[in-house]
Amino acid sequence: TFALLNFIAVLIIACPCAMGLATPTSIMVGVGKGAENGILIRGGESLETAHKLDTIVLDKTGTLTKGRPSVKEMEPLPGTSAEEMMFFAVSVEKGSEHPLAEAVVRRAEELGVAPSDSSAFEAIPGHGVKAVVDGKEVLFGNERLMSGRGVDIAPCALAAERYSTGGMTPVFLAVGGRLMGVMAIADTLKEHSREAIEAFRRMNLEVVIMTGDNKRTARAVADELGVERVLSEVLPQDKAAEVKKLQAGGKKVAMVGDGINDAPALAQSDVGIAIGTGTDVAMEASDITLIGGDLRAIVTAIALSRATIRNIRQNLFWAFFYNALLIPVAAGALYPAFGVLLDPMLAAGAMGLSSVSVVSNALRLKRFRAAI
Ligand code: ADP
Ligand code: MG
Repeated sequence: TFALLNFIAVLIIACPCAMGLATPTSIMVGVGKGAENGILIRGGESLETAHKLDTIVLDKTGTLTKGRPSVKEMEPLPGTSAEEMMFFAVSVEKGSEHPLAEAVVRRAEELGVAPSDSSAFEAIPGHGVKAVVDGKEVLFGNERLMSGRGVDIAPCALAAERYSTGGMTPVFLAVGGRLMGVMAIADTLKEHSREAIEAFRRMNLEVVIMTGDNKRTARAVADELGVERVLSEVLPQDKAAEVKKLQAGGKKVAMVGDGINDAPALAQSDVGIAIGTGTDVAMEASDITLIGGDLRAIVTAIALSRATIRNIRQNLFWAFFYNALLIPVAAGALYPAFGVLLDPMLAAGAMGLSSVSVVSNALRLKRFRAAI
């Protein structure tokens, strides 16, 4: 009877239920806490990975900026007018879903310029758009689009340089192979982008801006935000490759984006974070989705991940501690010297308590507060 009772007590203590509870309970509380703060976490894995991040790659348009660009300036070349430029621009852009296209359509409406029918519309990702309007081939896009089709942008180069140094995107218009002018389209930064970037830096994360926009515009925006590292003129299909390159250098990378063109990079990164105001494709490809557009929620998400991991470690410690301490006691390690033995009933009580302590510790996470 003596041996059997000890044997049963050891079996009861050895049941690792607290250890089994240690991770999932913390994750569950962490995910719930995230939702309370407007952070939707898909699966616990991303919450566990987020504390290891050391690099954060941010898309520019729609992520750091509001994603509602507007036409700021127009520079028609001699022989054309701003109205004529707008007419051709809106006639091609009305078929596009790009934020720049929306800016053109809005501005045309304000100016009362009605678009004409276009045919053979083609959106060239990372370059611009192309269509036939009034029998003439119209190109509207960046320098790369123009030089790829043999249009010389020299007459507008000065204006374009001025726009991009000011953080605006120059978009060129060519009709029938002849340059007509350039317009500046710019988006405003979100109010809290700068604050979020400062917080990332305090968390020892390297901040990288990645954009399809031209080098000088990207640089101007980065300077405004105090970011050193900029990857510009990245074609949509190359965004994932850039993330891969960072990972190959031993970095744990979070990618933050909103557009269809960010989706492959979101999937490639260790933790993909989509902006809730962006496209469904981006949200589908991400691990974490922010309900709003505020980047400070990412700071909260990373802090939450760190708090959750700390909590899991405490849980595992206590779960191991109970087992390591009580198995020898149940087996009779203290019996010869002190006459102490663990009755199966007491063993069951101790086991229950260890589970309760782990769950209670996990619930402490509920007191987590957004840091910023
Ligand atoms: P981002 O990374 O900023 O979301 P994209 O890859 O969508 O940028 O586009 C990169 C660049 O290609 C833009 O900055 C713009 O110069 C040009 N571009 C792409 N689509 C269009 C369009 N529909 N109209 C005008 N320019 C465009
Ligand atoms: Mg974008």
